[in-house]
Amino acid sequence: MSLNHIRPWRNIYRRKSRQIMVGSVPVGGDAPITVQTMTNTDTSDVAATVAQVQACADAGADIVRISTPDQSSTRALKQIVAESPVPIVADIHFHYKRAIEAAEAGAACLRINPGNIGEESRVREVIKAAKDHGCSIRIGVNAGSLERHLLEKYGEPCPEAMVESGLEHIRILQDNDFHDFKISVKASDVFLAAAAYQSLAEATDAPIHLGITEAGGLTSGTIKSAIGLGNLLWMGIGDTIRVSLSADPVEEVKVGYEILKSLGLRHRGVNIISCPSCARQGFDVIKTVEALEERLEHIKTPMSLSIIGCVVNGPGEALMTDVGFTGGGAGSGMVYLAGKQSHKLSNAEMVDHIVAQVEKKAEELDAVAAAEGQAAQ
Ligand code: SF4
Repeated sequence: MSLNHIRPWRNIYRRKSRQIMVGSVPVGGDAPITVQTMTNTDTSDVAATVAQVQACADAGADIVRISTPDQSSTRALKQIVAESPVPIVADIHFHYKRAIEAAEAGAACLRINPGNIGEESRVREVIKAAKDHGCSIRIGVNAGSLERHLLEKYGEPCPEAMVESGLEHIRILQDNDFHDFKISVKASDVFLAAAAYQSLAEATDAPIHLGITEAGGLTSGTIKSAIGLGNLLWMGIGDTIRVSLSADPVEEVKVGYEILKSLGLRHRGVNIISCPSCARQGFDVIKTVEALEERLEHIKTPMSLSIIGCVVNGPGEALMTDVGFTGGGAGSGMVYLAGKQSHKLSNAEMVDHIVAQVEKKAEELDAVAAAEGQAAQ
């Protein structure tokens, strides 16, 4: 049960945006903030691309984007879309004809880059294809590929130039009676991206796709994304997110979820609360948490688990979690269930036992959710 009505300091007031559909997935309005990623396989290798899309979907990706740089990619897209468990966004740069082919192949959304899609007549052809095939469009402005006239006007990539680029393309879409679009203004610089997104959020009610582009490797990119996206999400800006890492796309999905989970904006799987450990620990906290993270990856039910090395913080954290373990002395610790002290357990049995407790709790929570769902019908 959410207690946010008595904890106003936890509330995030989301900017009101229009809702669009990316295939079967709503984006914007009161829809949950979606997590996206992008494949890095050769798109024409259907088997490898579908396998990566599936792995990303298993990790929780709501939408997956696929680059379609050539005709062999757009040809492969048809089969990829047919086998994908989630809607596919075709990523288009330079060649507007690839956008038309991708729409024909069943892409749920076309991402076009205003900086390289070319003249307005080409955008109009893309809009027609999107209308004919029921696709939405993302206007994907990027600080690194702004239109020449805007760079000449502003001298360098800046928030004003990025927003102007986006708004120019919104006008083209709206002039052609096309409204199923979302928009992004990405930059690798956190300050630039944050300023651009804030201006954009005031200038349009379109759903906003958030991203810090080319954020870096797994550790540095995660931190940069958490700061950039985290601040914007905290302000209520953002309807769908993509974390860009030089890493496996599955990692992008995990990081995206962790950012949303940290802000209470999305819940999926086990939220492990664990201490950093120190000389007081009653068991090896770090190894235990690593083992539990791996063993509990299959749990999708939102729930919490506290794994705390000793009684300094263990009982207090366990009060607020579904399952808890606090280290004690002589090779054993205490298990907490629903915030209450339950039973003693030896450290040697702990991982297997906690996994079983979490699985049991997940089943109970799923049954409650199913019963509530039926009662609401
Ligand atoms: S909870 Fe205990 S073991 Fe963990 S860091 Fe704090 S004092 Fe150390």
